[in-house]
Amino acid sequence: MLTKRVQSLSTSLTIAISTLAGELKASGKDVISFSAGEPDFGTPEVIKAEAKKALDDNHTRYTAVPGIPELLEAIKNKLKRDNNLEYKSSQIIVSNGAKHSLFNLFQALIEEGDEVIIPSPYWVTYPELVIYSGGTSVYIETTDKDHFKITPEQLKAAITPKTKMLILTTPSNPSGALYTKDELLALGEVLKGTDIFIASDEMYEKLVYEGEFTAVGSVSDDMFKRTITINGLSKSVAMTGWRFGYLASVNDELIAAMKKLQSQSTSNINSITQYAAIVALDGKADDDIEIMRKEFHKRRDLAVELFNQSDKLSVAKPDGAFYLFVNIQKVTNDSMEFCKKLLEEKGIALVPGIGFGSEGYFRFSFATDEDSIREGIQRIKDFCQNY
Ligand code: PMP
Ligand code: GLU
Repeated sequence: MLTKRVQSLSTSLTIAISTLAGELKASGKDVISFSAGEPDFGTPEVIKAEAKKALDDNHTRYTAVPGIPELLEAIKNKLKRDNNLEYKSSQIIVSNGAKHSLFNLFQALIEEGDEVIIPSPYWVTYPELVIYSGGTSVYIETTDKDHFKITPEQLKAAITPKTKMLILTTPSNPSGALYTKDELLALGEVLKGTDIFIASDEMYEKLVYEGEFTAVGSVSDDMFKRTITINGLSKSVAMTGWRFGYLASVNDELIAAMKKLQSQSTSNINSITQYAAIVALDGKADDDIEIMRKEFHKRRDLAVELFNQSDKLSVAKPDGAFYLFVNIQKVTNDSMEFCKKLLEEKGIALVPGIGFGSEGYFRFSFATDEDSIREGIQRIKDFCQNY
């Protein structure tokens, strides 16, 4: 009955584990979850106030498919101001979360015979998007020893005549790795003279603790032309439930194709969200972002210190995002079994590294309060002693 393409898809592991942890908690079990990929803060008041106003002003009708003109203008200005990326408003499309932006992109650009290069560990959704569009994933493995970043040599070796796209995520989910301008320039050198696109997922741009965020498309004219910039507000201003993401590209043919696709699928995103998003994009919630960033920074340092006190676990300090990708190779190389037993025996929910394409690790989200971090890491350490 079902299509082959939908049968070939897997459910998002990150969502599946967070949902399971929530259900166990609701049934009265003592569960602490470090599996969620979302901030534990509320959306800033300035944004919520704008949403209430939009409702009172009756902004409740269909809008243009890619978004209202004021919103596209706000994104255009944000990309110029924060990232030194010069797009036209017509080159931007707003979708129902960055996940939807990526979905549109893959449907418009990838088909059978195309190869997509994905550095691992990767965010769980990328390989599924490749599968659903009929393409083939080509993985470049990275480890904690190389700070989870690919090198120009690795990229060169992964390219074939079929390569259509490279995915870069900076800062990365799940590793927190952040590419420097020089590293991006060096990757760009490898791509020179090719038609390879880059899908640059910059969702965690605002959550940087060490170093400086560099937008992939900003490093050179050549990189700007080949890069599709993807971003959103879920992580930076805690708007996961509002469903807001966007994508920008100077390739007008590609943008037109994605607008057509969205016009036949979801149309515009929620009109209220669009008005509220402008406030965040204009920088009016920057103070709130800084409060959250500082809090994440503190928790990162605490969690890294606690994990590294263990002789069985080790973790490299991530430069950005709110995840630790913890090495468990001294304990086991079966991260799925490890996480399953840990949840059953100690009530701790983590996402196994294998879900991100890297065996021998787990992902620990520090978007959780300090007391839970202390208690949770103690339980994980106790568990490892007897594993
Ligand atoms: N990219 C990355 C790397 C993510 O971690 C997420 C988190 N869900 C997304 C994209 C999608 O975010 P959203 O759809 O909420 O905008
Ligand atoms: N991106 C988040 C995560 O990695 C949210 C869940 C999802 O969309 O996969 O956990």
